[in-house]
Amino acid sequence: RRNVGMIEQSGKRLSHLVNDILDFSKLRNRRITLDRIPVGLFSAVEMVVELSRPLIGEKKMDVYNVVSKDMSLVLADPNRLQQILFNLVGNAIKFTEQGYVTIKADLDHQTQRVNVAVEDSGVGIALEFRERIFRAFEQGDGSSQREYGGTGLGLAVSRELVIAHGGELKVASALGMGTTMSFSL
Ligand code: ADP
Repeated sequence: RRNVGMIEQSGKRLSHLVNDILDFSKLRNRRITLDRIPVGLFSAVEMVVELSRPLIGEKKMDVYNVVSKDMSLVLADPNRLQQILFNLVGNAIKFTEQGYVTIKADLDHQTQRVNVAVEDSGVGIALEFRERIFRAFEQGDGSSQREYGGTGLGLAVSRELVIAHGGELKVASALGMGTTMSFSL
């Protein structure tokens, strides 16, 4: 049972990797088209949280969806929105040893835009890496002794997908205290 579980996890990881690579090349050539429809943010986040929970493993932390159920619908491509959230929440869990990952959303009445934030209490990102991490195949501390896996594609793809939605993906972080990744829709 354990081995089958590991095979399943590896399969999922590889499938994500292949999709990230395919998307990355399409995004570079601006060949991604969005199917935008009104989406309920609470349910979209809830699905991602449930899918991501196994990534917590034995760590003393939890993931909280605090998006209001009454939040107005956002105009987004549901599959792409899920991909962005899955990337950000996955990273937040990966780079957090203990504490929390919280997903929030606020409506800016003036601009009629919703700001979504994924906040964690993890290792944080040093100032000098905060631009670089959005480039393809770049990782914060890219040293070979690095204990975290990954490809450095997730944020590059997420940022392009957010831009395709007319938004911006931003980072705020304090080293050793945590990171907040936010984007608007
Ligand atoms: P990957 O996670 O596959 O390395 P990403 O493009 O998703 O690639 O992220 C790039 C890098 O940004 C990560 O390797 C990590 O150094 C940094 N990073 C991303 N999210 C977080 C986070 N929530 N906390 C700390 N570091 C992060």
